[in-house]
Amino acid sequence: MRIVRTVAALREAVGTDPAVPVGLVPTMGAFHAGHLALFRAARAENDVVVASLFVNPAQFRPGEDLARYPRDEARDEALADEAGVDVLFVPSVDEMYPPGFQTWVEVEELSRGLEGAARPGHFRGVATVCLKLFSIVRPRRAYFGQKDAQQAAVVKRLVRDLDLGVEIRVGPIVREEDGLALSSRNVYLDPAERKAAASLSDALRDAARAYAAGERDPVRLRAVLVARLRAEPLADLEYAELVDAATFEKPGTLAVIAARIGKTRLIDNHDLSIPLPG
Ligand code: AMP
Repeated sequence: MRIVRTVAALREAVGTDPAVPVGLVPTMGAFHAGHLALFRAARAENDVVVASLFVNPAQFRPGEDLARYPRDEARDEALADEAGVDVLFVPSVDEMYPPGFQTWVEVEELSRGLEGAARPGHFRGVATVCLKLFSIVRPRRAYFGQKDAQQAAVVKRLVRDLDLGVEIRVGPIVREEDGLALSSRNVYLDPAERKAAASLSDALRDAARAYAAGERDPVRLRAVLVARLRAEPLADLEYAELVDAATFEKPGTLAVIAARIGKTRLIDNHDLSIPLPG
């Protein structure tokens, strides 16, 4: 695996032959099994696999966890190499946002609600960095996780609206034994919080069971989600909604949740028309 830190070195490592399919997995590092599953999916479908490791300041708000976001490049290099990544792109902030940088892209409607409302500017940062990565790497396919469902919808819309010609693949959520969705931020949780964090996936499982039992009223399905999260004293619910997976408009069967467990903000989602094992 090659490790490159500049746009020029990346281009040199990847080449420019359009006949060679390149798969790109954008990440912020602190790899876990969710990232590794995306690397393997890219490995299976492409001749060249590029992973980017960049903690993108543009998608954090002041007061969020940019400074303390977990970083361990040596560990990430070993894991990416093992999972079949050919080129790891680790740019500096200056390489991605050189002095004078002032061009931003915004996917307007999809960026407004839920994560976009809770984190204003977040999806502008995501869309801009993804567009930059697509134009630097020129991938045939790019891989994202369903864990960040609204992000996947924003990126798909970006690609359609700007005719970027990148196939967007969305991998399933990889979960711990008790259902907690893997996240680089799970390391912030102390043992009591870690236990309480399962309340997000518990809530999604309860709602999927209600759906399987015939419940279709979005108000009542939402009430099932909320009841389970309210029953956990360490959980502070931010939102719980049922939306359409492509438009993020209500109503739909995609249940999306954000909650704080102590100081840690976690998100999760699940399509209620599919049972959630556990
Ligand atoms: P991040 O490094 O957190 O920005 O994540 C990089 C990519 O991995 C994003 O497309 C995420 O949606 C995806 N991802 C994160 N956690 C999971 C998970 N538990 N299962 C599947 N994909 C994930």
